[in-house]
Amino acid sequence: SGLGLINLGGAPAAPADPARRSADELRELATQAARDLEGKSAEEIAKWATDTFGARFCVTSSMADAVVAHLFSRVSPGVDVVFLDTGLHFPETLKVRDTVARTMNVNVRSIRPRMTVGQQDGEYGPRLFARSPDECCFLRKVEPLERALSDYDSWATGLRRDESPTRANTPVVAFDAKKGKVKVNPIAAWTQADVDRYISRWNVPVNELFKKGYGSIGCWPCTRRTKAGEDPRAGRWAMFEKTECGLHV
Ligand code: SF4
Repeated sequence: SGLGLINLGGAPAAPADPARRSADELRELATQAARDLEGKSAEEIAKWATDTFGARFCVTSSMADAVVAHLFSRVSPGVDVVFLDTGLHFPETLKVRDTVARTMNVNVRSIRPRMTVGQQDGEYGPRLFARSPDECCFLRKVEPLERALSDYDSWATGLRRDESPTRANTPVVAFDAKKGKVKVNPIAAWTQADVDRYISRWNVPVNELFKKGYGSIGCWPCTRRTKAGEDPRAGRWAMFEKTECGLHV
């Protein structure tokens, strides 16, 4: 994350790289923080994360909107923002990523899968997403995220409790035992109205697909428009009994 930490604008630089912490230390930190930070503002939660983890922290963004990236750009200019570039994104999504990189004080890192879509087609057959989406998500999202997170002790997401019943119990801070890292969800308690308010207050870039009837946005083969009144995530993997890509389970 070196370049992102250069202090160009007179804003405070991110804190120095803290020592690596053991999984036990991270677990303890997360347990304490989950209690202390519940009910606190998104800014306070974000500040705790960047104060605690410094350069060993990143934001992850699907570039559906750039609210969390924007939040952290205010609290910790130059912060790393990891985007999983699956090779199967809508152009509208790549446009949000490029706008974030151009307009916000963050260091966008696009992480690619080990195989291009063409190489994957060669190895697994074409349209793996239509036959085995879990396998496709593993290759194009889960493994790349794990690889990206090896540089960090903690990462932030834009998960919200009101997005779907599967996310209703999302804590603001949690220890992910499988990854051995601390997951920070600063806007877990926000409603859609809170998100909309933040977007208009700060003029945050939003994926144009929301205006075209999409409720939740992922790779193009696995995303369809949602109908009025439908759960926003109903448009994801609509042909399968699948609601999560495996990044958040
Ligand atoms: Fe593959 Fe669909 Fe998962 Fe994207 S969302 S990685 S296309 S299965």
